Amino acid sequence: MAITAPLLWLDGALVASSTAGAPLMGHAAQRGSLVFDVGSFHGTPRGPALFRARDHVARFLRSARIVGLELAFDEKTLLDSATRVVAESGCEDGLVRWSAFLRAREPDLVPRDHAAHVAVAAQSLQDPPRRDPIRVAVFDDARKAAPEVLPPDTKAAGAYLGPMLARKRAIAAGADDVVLLDRDGDIAEAPIANAFAVVAGTLWTPPLGRVLPGITRDSVLALARDEGIPVREERLPLDVFTSADEAFLTSTSLPIAPIGWVNGRPLREASGPVTTRIVERIAAAQRGADPSRDAWLTYVR
Ligand code: PMP
Repeated sequence: MAITAPLLWLDGALVASSTAGAPLMGHAAQRGSLVFDVGSFHGTPRGPALFRARDHVARFLRSARIVGLELAFDEKTLLDSATRVVAESGCEDGLVRWSAFLRAREPDLVPRDHAAHVAVAAQSLQDPPRRDPIRVAVFDDARKAAPEVLPPDTKAAGAYLGPMLARKRAIAAGADDVVLLDRDGDIAEAPIANAFAVVAGTLWTPPLGRVLPGITRDSVLALARDEGIPVREERLPLDVFTSADEAFLTSTSLPIAPIGWVNGRPLREASGPVTTRIVERIAAAQRGADPSRDAWLTYVR
């Protein structure tokens, strides 16, 4: 669970987070039009640093553009507000969440006014990330919306309802999470994480255009290339995934969750050599222990 710091940044000023809320009868709450992005920060020898914050801000602005929200703040302000709330929080490790939602208190499907409030909050994580391999379920009829219906590179609240129901179904079936298929029946992604398989030493993940451009996904691909691990960004058939040697999910808050079972069948190696190497490389990059990746960090002090 994530606990929000007492102060958050709202439209240019620090305010008590307990007082900042989207109106109940507004578009964000009634229609799910709130867009958001979630980055992370980590303790380094030079104090806390945000990981790939510029990329999170760029994706946040893209989500807002796709949904048609008008933001009064530029990239630099959104980055500076993040370092400010992290510094204020006094935490070494946690998440930073950018949100934008319409100021108009109207739930009409297409509202007249597209000017948005923007909030930036630091959050501490209560539970340490899970280390033991997870069980995932894949259902033939649990699919991501086609890109023409809902662009997969938009992080809008309303996009998560279908995936939430699929995850509930997976939990009821005894799994920890679900991996959704794309409209053609190939592997897409989990509700809030990208999916990877390791097949005969090659790291394989579905291509962009069908999945969210995960920033952890991108980091994993870059670090794998550094390591000389062959990578494939290609359609990933379900049977290749279920018979993979290793598999894992990636997201900012995980950042890597090794998969142990798919639909009740154990994989050959949960947390095998490729997964283990990637876990080590990401941790080093986030904690300021990999000078070759210092450009990924934004120091808070
Ligand atoms: N896919 C979806 C649908 C997500 O919501 C997330 C979480 N942002 C991810 C993948 C992972 O992305 P990232 O590594 O940038 O957190």
